[in-house]
Amino acid sequence: MNVTKDTIREALIPVQSPARGVGLAQAEDLLWVTWCDGFASIKVRAESCRDRAEMEVLAGAAHRAIRQRVEAAGTSLVSLIVEFVRADGVAVHTARLGSTPAAEVKTATPASQPASAAQTPAGGDGHRPISGLAGKAPAAQTKSQPLPGVSRILAVGAGKGGVGKSTAALNIAVGLAREGHAVGLLDGDIYGPSMPTMLGLSGLDAVAREGMLEPFYTHGIKTMTMGKLVSPEQPLIWRGPMAHGAFKQLTEQTNWGTLDYLIIDLPPGTGDISLTMAQTLRLTGAVVVCTPQRVAQDDAVRAARMFQQLGVEVLGVIENMSYFVGDDGKVYDIFGRGGAEQMAQRLGLPYLGAIPITMSLRTNSDNGDPTANFTGKDPAGVRLRESLEEIVRALRGQVSLAEMRQGSSGPSLTIS
Ligand code: ADP
Repeated sequence: MNVTKDTIREALIPVQSPARGVGLAQAEDLLWVTWCDGFASIKVRAESCRDRAEMEVLAGAAHRAIRQRVEAAGTSLVSLIVEFVRADGVAVHTARLGSTPAAEVKTATPASQPASAAQTPAGGDGHRPISGLAGKAPAAQTKSQPLPGVSRILAVGAGKGGVGKSTAALNIAVGLAREGHAVGLLDGDIYGPSMPTMLGLSGLDAVAREGMLEPFYTHGIKTMTMGKLVSPEQPLIWRGPMAHGAFKQLTEQTNWGTLDYLIIDLPPGTGDISLTMAQTLRLTGAVVVCTPQRVAQDDAVRAARMFQQLGVEVLGVIENMSYFVGDDGKVYDIFGRGGAEQMAQRLGLPYLGAIPITMSLRTNSDNGDPTANFTGKDPAGVRLRESLEEIVRALRGQVSLAEMRQGSSGPSLTIS
């Protein structure tokens, strides 16, 4: 029998909302279900449980029910993510369960950064507030790494489109490559890929060998993008599971070889692709890109919290379009420089630096020449290069710290 998300819904009918004492579906506590190739995610109202212990019990029960059902259908459950969401849409706890029976599995601890990032659920509906959901070290991601040749995976996200997330991801990748690292860039913004333009890939065609896609190699980095696999005019209207499958294929069926860093440019917002990424890849961490304005910060906070809820450590915040530099070097503070830095401080996140608005950054992106962002000679070009290099250095520092925290590397002393 073919498993679909309706199969998952049916499997969950007997599972009860602990706080209400009735089935999840009966109390309309089951908000959202996805299923694709053994990967299931569900969203459940946080109010269906009185505290985190109940959430863990519910997640375990859901895991057992889904597992039994999909195994009866002749397939297996690889992973289940259960996200508990408050009425205002904020996820307060995420349980990740693998293929082993739920009784043997511990739920993930959400939020990774200091307590300022934490939030106490409102509980204004008479339910006890759920406390202690944040402020702890991120859960070590225990899943296997499907990209064995890749040492570090960094995601770049933003709360909304147009803030320069792809620009930041691309320039981080090129900046790291210019330092001598082996770097890949995965354009995970599968709904609106902009990398073909920004990397100047228009004359190149995707090549597959023995069932694997060969990445493009330009500006010192390897890249794969959905934009080179579908016609630019073809609208990509994909449901969650289709996007999940497309992302997984792009990631796992690209011949990345050996990489020091794989940078993933995520779609804006807090959607399915981020969930898929967190389910399938072991990330070193994520970077949040934000512009200085207050309205942009609110979205960026949501993006940062999403990573934390998914157990992905936020390595830092970049302020893009921080200020404008004219070709003569004169600086104009148009959007209120420093807003993203303040937001980072508020959330207890590292601040990685600012990217100015320059005419050359826009034209270099449109011309598919990111290398030129690092070679400008006029005052604006020099400022841009210095800003990008500073961000890359700061990010590398945060990666090293994260690796130590996550136990994948220890400090080393070389005496020569
Ligand atoms: P997002 O990925 O957040 O949707 P993009 O990186 O695609 O945003 O950037 C949107 C547009 O803004 C692009 O045309 C890009 O070249 C331009 N842009 C982004 N950051 C800057 C900047 N600091 N200076 C000049 N242009 C920029």
